[in-house]
Amino acid sequence: MDCDVVVVGAGIVGSACARTLARAGLSVTVVDRGAAAGGTTAHGEGNLLVSDKRPGAELDIAQYSARLWRELSVELADELGPGFPSLEFEEKGGLVVATEERGAGPLLELAESQRQAGARVRVLTASEALRLEPELTPSAVAAVHYPEDGQVQPVIAAEALLASARRAGARILPHTEVTGPVLTESGELTGVQSTAGTIRAPHVVVAAGPWSARVASSLGATIPVVPRRGMVLVTTRMRHRIFRKVYDADYVGAVGSNGSELQTSSVIESTASGTVLIGSSRQMIGFDDRLRVNVLEELALKATQLFPFLRMASVMRVYGGFRPFTPDHLPLIGPDAMVPGLWHANGHEGAGIGLAPATAEILGALIRRESPAVAAAPYLPGRPALASVGGVR
Ligand SMILES: Cc1cc2nc3c(=O)[nH]c(=O)nc-3n(C[C@H](O)[C@H](O)[C@H](O)COP(=O)(O)OP(=O)(O)OC[C@H]3O[C@@H](n4cnc5c(N)ncnc54)[C@H](O)[C@@H]3O)c2cc1C
Repeated sequence: MDCDVVVVGAGIVGSACARTLARAGLSVTVVDRGAAAGGTTAHGEGNLLVSDKRPGAELDIAQYSARLWRELSVELADELGPGFPSLEFEEKGGLVVATEERGAGPLLELAESQRQAGARVRVLTASEALRLEPELTPSAVAAVHYPEDGQVQPVIAAEALLASARRAGARILPHTEVTGPVLTESGELTGVQSTAGTIRAPHVVVAAGPWSARVASSLGATIPVVPRRGMVLVTTRMRHRIFRKVYDADYVGAVGSNGSELQTSSVIESTASGTVLIGSSRQMIGFDDRLRVNVLEELALKATQLFPFLRMASVMRVYGGFRPFTPDHLPLIGPDAMVPGLWHANGHEGAGIGLAPATAEILGALIRRESPAVAAAPYLPGRPALASVGGVR
C-alpha cells in the first residue's frame, strides 16, 4: 500500500480529517484537483454557529465542534507559531433578531428548546439587544443571544489544519484529480486512480464538498449530496460597528428548509480586517455559478433592515459558492453503506466550517474502530433517513 488513507478533497473538512488521522499515526495522502482550500471553503463565510441548530443530532455535533474549535485555535497557534497567519478565531457570540411579529414566536420557541437541550441561550429585551449592538434597528421585536457562536477565517483555518497534518506526516497532492477506483481482482476498493497515477490505500475518504456525489459515483457509490448555491456581499473596510454574528430569524427557517427556490435571509458579520460580510442566499440551481442581481438585491435589502447604516456602505465585491446539501440537513460521516473501504466526510451544507473538527474526530474514531465522543449513528451514510429519499443504495 502507498498509504493507509487517501483523503479526496483539501477543503476544511478534508484538511481536518487528514490532521486527525495523521496525528493518530496513520499514513495519509490528501488529493485535491485544485489548490488546497480553494473549493467551497474559500466561497462561504466563517460562522461557527450553535444558534441555528435544532436540538438533537444537529445541536450535539455543533456544540461538540464548537468546543473543538476553541481547543484547536490554541493548539494550531502554538504548533505553527507566530509566522503563521492568525485563524481569526473569535467566540464573539451570535444575536438572532426577529424584525417582524411573525418571526418572533418561532425564534423564541427554538431558543427555549435549545436551552432545554443544554445550549447557552439568553432572550433579550429590545434595549438589551441595542446595548450589545448599538447600530441594530430599533424596531426589533425579539432577540436571542447565543454566547457559544463564533467565527474563523475559513481559508486560513483550512491551511493551518493542512500544515499541521503535513507536520504529522501527511502527503498533500494539489492539482491532482481523482478519476476512479483501484480495485482488487475480486472488485474491492483498494485505492484511487488519479491524474498523478495510482494511489493504493485500504481507506478512501470522500471529502469533496459539493462534488462529493460525483467523486463517490466515480468510486462506485451513490450519496444524496447536491449543491445549494449561496451568495455573499462584502463591504469595504470600516470601523467596527457590528460586534457579533447577527442574523434575522428567517435564517433558521431557510437553513432548515429543503426548498429549491431562492431563499434569502440576512447573516451579517464583521471580519478582523474591518470588512462586513453580508450573506446569504440558498437556491438549488445545480452548479450554475452566475452572480444574480436579484439575489444580491434581496440580500442588501434585508441587511439594511437589520442595520440601517449599511444602506450607505460601499460594496467591494460579491462572491458565491455551493453548499454540499443533504436532504436531512446532517453530514455524512462514516463508512459507505455499500462499498467497503470507502468513507464519507461530506454533506455539511452551510455548516462545514463549524463542523469540520467534529467530523474529523468522529471519522477518525470510526476508522480506528474506536467509539467517537458523540454517537455516530445520526451521521452514518447508511442511516434510515437517507434510505427513504433513495440517495444511498
Ligand atoms: C455562501 C456560503 C456561506 C457559507 N457560510 C458558512 C458559514 O458561515 N459557516 C459554515 O460552517 N459553513 C458555511 N458554508 C458552508 C461551508 O463553506 C462548507 O460546508 C464547507 O466549506 C465544505 O467544506 P469541504 O471541505 O467539505 O468542501 P470544499 O471546501 O468544497 O472542498 C472540497 C474539495 O474537493 C476537491 N475535489 C472535488 N472533486 C475532486 C476530485 N475528483 N479529485 C480531487 N479533488 C476534488 C475540490 O477541489 C475542493 O477543494 C457556507 C457556504 C456558502 C456557499
